[in-house]
Amino acid sequence: MARARRFHTSTLGPWAAFTSFSPYLAVELSPEICIELSRLVNLRTPVWEDESRDALAWSVATLAHESVHVTGNLSEAMADCLGDADDPDGGGRAR
Ligand SMILES: [Zn+2]
Repeated sequence: MARARRFHTSTLGPWAAFTSFSPYLAVELSPEICIELSRLVNLRTPVWEDESRDALAWSVATLAHESVHVTGNLSEAMADCLGDADDPDGGGRAR
């Protein structure tokens, strides 16, 4: 986990995530991101009407980013690019 922490740091404090490869493959999401993803699953109104839509969008983008790393691709640029491929604004995620 220490290696993964060094690999994946964030200036956003608790709004961080990383992928670990040892002892098993896992995506570690901060509690803040998990809460937003759980909230998204149960959201009953359109996302754009949610007062925390930025947090929802960040959390989904983070999960997409880490999903690229899970494939074994450790390139931050590629994770940003492929993870945000459907983002019409081109993404802009930091990590
Ligand atoms: Zn990354």
